[in-house]
Amino acid sequence: MNKWEKLLGRCIWYIFLLCATGVLVYFIWGEIHYPRETDERDQNWRKYNLGWSRIYADGTKKDVDVPGKYATDEDGIIEIAAQLPDAVDDDDWICFKTSKQDVEISVGNEVRKRYSTKDTRPFGNFSVSQYIFVSLQSTDAGSGVVYKARGDDSERAGIINDIYYGDRFAIWLHLVISDGIGTIITLFMILVGVLSIIIITFVNLKYKKNINLQYLCWGIVLLALWLICQSNIRQLIFPNISVANSMTYFTILLAPIPFLIYVDSRQKHRYHKMHLFATVMALANFAACTCAQIFFNVDFMDMFRSLFMGIGTAFIIILVSFMIDASKGKIGGYKLVAIGFTVAIVASCIQMANFYFVEISNTGTPLAVGMLVMLLMAVIEAVEDLLELEYQKQQAVMESAAKARFLAGISHEIRTPINAVIGMDEMILRESEEEHTKEYAADILKAGKNLLALINDVLDVSKIESGRMEIVETDYELYGLIDSCFNMIALNAREKGLSVEVINDRNCPYKLRGDEVRVRQIIVNLLTNAVKYTKSGKIVLEIGYEKTDGHRIWLKIKVSDTGIGIKQENIKHLFDTFARIDIGKNHSIEGTGLGLSIVKQLVDLMGGSISVDSEYGKGSVFTALIPQQIVSERAVGEYRTESRSDKAYEVKQTYTAPSARILVVDDVPMNIKVITGLLKDTHIVIDEADSGEQCLRKVKMYRYDCIFLDHMMPEMDGIETLVRMKAMKDGINADTPVIVLTANALLGAKEEYMAAGFSDYLSKPVRRQDLDRMLLKYINKDKIN
Ligand code: ADP
Repeated sequence: MNKWEKLLGRCIWYIFLLCATGVLVYFIWGEIHYPRETDERDQNWRKYNLGWSRIYADGTKKDVDVPGKYATDEDGIIEIAAQLPDAVDDDDWICFKTSKQDVEISVGNEVRKRYSTKDTRPFGNFSVSQYIFVSLQSTDAGSGVVYKARGDDSERAGIINDIYYGDRFAIWLHLVISDGIGTIITLFMILVGVLSIIIITFVNLKYKKNINLQYLCWGIVLLALWLICQSNIRQLIFPNISVANSMTYFTILLAPIPFLIYVDSRQKHRYHKMHLFATVMALANFAACTCAQIFFNVDFMDMFRSLFMGIGTAFIIILVSFMIDASKGKIGGYKLVAIGFTVAIVASCIQMANFYFVEISNTGTPLAVGMLVMLLMAVIEAVEDLLELEYQKQQAVMESAAKARFLAGISHEIRTPINAVIGMDEMILRESEEEHTKEYAADILKAGKNLLALINDVLDVSKIESGRMEIVETDYELYGLIDSCFNMIALNAREKGLSVEVINDRNCPYKLRGDEVRVRQIIVNLLTNAVKYTKSGKIVLEIGYEKTDGHRIWLKIKVSDTGIGIKQENIKHLFDTFARIDIGKNHSIEGTGLGLSIVKQLVDLMGGSISVDSEYGKGSVFTALIPQQIVSERAVGEYRTESRSDKAYEVKQTYTAPSARILVVDDVPMNIKVITGLLKDTHIVIDEADSGEQCLRKVKMYRYDCIFLDHMMPEMDGIETLVRMKAMKDGINADTPVIVLTANALLGAKEEYMAAGFSDYLSKPVRRQDLDRMLLKYINKDKIN
């Protein structure tokens, strides 16, 4: 997107906001300002509370106020009567709300409706309250209507609720709307709560996490069920309202448990004992009340002190814990949740009072609003937590990127002098005639190499930790891989008097595809450890394979030794970073505890596995299985170890090429000196350049067989130099191979340099055998003797 497109995008958004605001203002203003055009939604109903009189058992009558609460007669009966209007439509209805009463409603002398749940309720002693509708006809005009109720609950048997008259649908609409906000919020809560529980359970199972918001959702679903089961409209939703009614008790008994667990986890279990106590109390209360109702027929309604006890104790404990945290300044971690809970607790108290003491009518709006506030606060806090986590993750990524950059820099700085030390040392080994000097130089070489291996390990760990370690697959020959691993270890083993045996499955595919460098690193690491931790005996490297499908194999690498072994209890710590075990016994053996951790992580990265089998004091067997692709099915044949020199410093000259000319470009003169020194006996003509610019001048003058170009140079680096060199039209070195020399192991992926246009890659410190490998590969065979 260019600047103008961005500007246009922003303008469109502002214009949209303006239009949308205009439309909303029009909507609100229009609805308020213009006269009503639709039917009055509730014009076809009215309250029918006037003109009622009570009929006593002896037949006397007395006017009563409706709604109202009266004493019943001795049989628990209350009977009221009134006259229907002079004109009644055929679709008119009269509607009464019962209060735990069995009811009989008559019009004229005819009983029109009887209501009792005696035969349909699972347990309990009362018929649950509900709205009873009685259909009227035009012939009922002016007739008497009698409402006769009987109840065993002395508290409620004498209650007369509002009476409605009119169209059945209009009455229902009124009832639904009068509880509208509460009902909508309650249904919304159930939906959100149930969906959240499903999603969180799925996430918990998949990622093996425990997201604590799930507890809150359970609590909210229970309270929402409580609300819906005691609402005006429950008889529209549930076919058996006795069951729905009992749910109001079960849910209120269970609801404190998830809330307590949620608060406990938000408070990081600071008041665990207190919360645990309240949870156990709530559970015991649930069990006791349920048994009392089902087995001893004690009505839930009569146990309301007990019902209150669970949720009341929970609320008090939660509030107390908030207060303690507030006084200790620890509430900051969950401030919004605490506010939400406090609002919800106050709302619950209002709702409970409403439910138990305002018997005539109640709506669930206070609790529904309280719960909504609680849910909103909890969600906001959960989102804030997530954002905070994301921020911390970004910080960590930035820090680890900075660490990686620092390590790359340090590695470059350390590798450059080591390059000089090892290079010069190799020259001493070649040129010195003095046996003692050669031995000292051999020690320096060994120490230098150890230092280099250490730097490589540290770099690998930092790469793996920052997620920058990539598996780079290339085609490679298995025989070469085995050979290089053997050669890297043979000398050290022989110096310790250990024999090394290589056993390979001769049918292994000859050519494979995978990350050769990393597979070699794994094998060499296991072999190095085997040599390090074995005093006498032998090391065996076994290479085998298992075919998975037509194109892939599990490359099986088994390294066994007759060394000190590993105690069973230590095996589980073996692959931890920096883990060095049995330190007492191994204190004389150099190590950092990084090797096996790198091996394990590399194996994991490649999708393989590694296992250890060890007997303390007898030896260990490390077995790695790594998936590789087959490139050539041809069998690799049997590996034969070649006999090598016994001394580290005996280096043989293999060729001369006096007619070949190469260019070495490096800003550090010592590095050039190392290469010229190492190649002295090859008689190759070696030109030197100490900068990219000097290199560009030289390539115009001479034709080279090969160019070694350093990467990190001031002003013009190796990559830029290469690009400019390639851009020279008809240059005499247009097709000369250019090999990058780099000390930067972090960026040292061969593929990256190849992609930049280099023909090959050599990492510093440069070794003679690497130089030979490159020169023999790139210099024309005719020039080599
Ligand atoms: P380091 O060898 O640098 O200490 P490693 O991560 O390679 O670190 O190994 C971790 C520990 O595992 C070593 O310190 C050693 O105690 C133990 N260990 C590794 N390989 C062997 C082996 N072949 N035999 C016995 N112990 C071993």
